[in-house]
Amino acid sequence: MSQYRAIRGMVDILPDDTPLWQMLEQTASDVLGAHGYQEIRTPIVESTDLFARSIGEVTDIVEKEMYSFPDRNDESLSLRPEGTASTVRAMVQHNLIQSPQRVWYRGPMFRYERPQKGRQRQFHQLGVEAFGIATPDLDAELLLMCRQWWKRLGIDDVLTLELNTIGSGEARQRYKAALTDYLRGHFDALDDDSQRRLDTNPLRILDTKSESTQAVLKGAPSMSTFLDDESRAHHDRLCELLSLAGLSFVPNPNLVRGLDYYNKTVFEWTTDKLGAQATVCGGGRYDAMVSQFGGRDTAGCGFAAGLERLILLLQALDVEASADPDLYIISSDENALGKAMLEADRIRSEFPTLNVVQHLGGGSFKSQFKRADKSGAAWAMVFGEEEVAQGTVTLKPLRSRDEQMTLDREGLNKFLAQLEALAQDVEE
Ligand code: ATP
Ligand code: MG
Repeated sequence: MSQYRAIRGMVDILPDDTPLWQMLEQTASDVLGAHGYQEIRTPIVESTDLFARSIGEVTDIVEKEMYSFPDRNDESLSLRPEGTASTVRAMVQHNLIQSPQRVWYRGPMFRYERPQKGRQRQFHQLGVEAFGIATPDLDAELLLMCRQWWKRLGIDDVLTLELNTIGSGEARQRYKAALTDYLRGHFDALDDDSQRRLDTNPLRILDTKSESTQAVLKGAPSMSTFLDDESRAHHDRLCELLSLAGLSFVPNPNLVRGLDYYNKTVFEWTTDKLGAQATVCGGGRYDAMVSQFGGRDTAGCGFAAGLERLILLLQALDVEASADPDLYIISSDENALGKAMLEADRIRSEFPTLNVVQHLGGGSFKSQFKRADKSGAAWAMVFGEEEVAQGTVTLKPLRSRDEQMTLDREGLNKFLAQLEALAQDVEE
């Protein structure tokens, strides 16, 4: 018999791991909500052209990482490799960019890459985009918002903000020409990849991993001397706002990011806890993209976080989240089961935050207790003959040294209220 397996690079997130994912996503949605950002959900499939035009024909993503295929009408479609292009498309299509907008999205993205730790073919991003605000206070707000999220996750100590400005389109063209000239003079010392990129995407050579190319780059002209005045002022003000907020960063003049649509601010949050896949979040300004998509000239700025890498980081720091039940309900016979199910139903409506698992499928007391223990539940709630006759229940602790107790309805309600309060405390 053949055994099916998930496609290479596409990963199942199993029940033991989902509590951490839910915690990660919940903290994000809390932080974003607290800043007035609203969620947007767009399709996973878009026309290939949308990505080719916005991300750029000669970027890694479009050249070799996209899952593209003809649909039955022979139109070329692609699984989205990132979320910004779709978000801008949707905002323009629905005429939402008349006034400033703040939105966020989350979901699977697809890139045909070599799978390794922190690098998958289906992975998940949570991204934020804001439109219609050209001033650097927006860039600052986005970075402060990231910091809030990191703080709530307890990972702000292990993340570093790297910041750069890549100026206006024109400044970048002039810089590109100067950089290309310089690198052509050192062509033979460049690695193969950089030699190839010299004609297609010379700026990407700046973040090369090759040591020989890095050595050549030491003498290369610097973007900062080509920067236009407006971009420089924008950057200076951003740095000032960050310093006011006590958010420190590392200037990285070689940070350019792999997508064509950026201008002015670019940034990445990196960590030394994850090996080669060190960037957990990246973003920047893309002031030309909305008009390129047929909307009216509107500034844009955003970021995307890689959720797999954040999960790896949380795991590396031993952060845990659990969804273990509070109560596991056990009953002695059919009659007791009937009572137990009714009581479970009442508890779930009166104490809606408690996680109550009803044992199903019968079996001896002993086997039911085994299951209760395996479920991770804090308490077993027992409906035996005696309890049913007296109108009581017995609560047996499975994880603590608390006393076993037999309670009537009133006692039970008191106990459950305490349990609920305790669970709330742990969450906060
Ligand atoms: P990298 O340089 O690591 O390939 P990137 O610059 O291609 O990253 P972006 O397009 O900026 O990545 O995406 C934002 C974030 O999404 C990245 O910082 C990373 O955390 C995450 N990410 C990107 N590609 C992958 C992938 N294949 N698997 C898992 N996470 C990814
Ligand atoms: Mg990449």
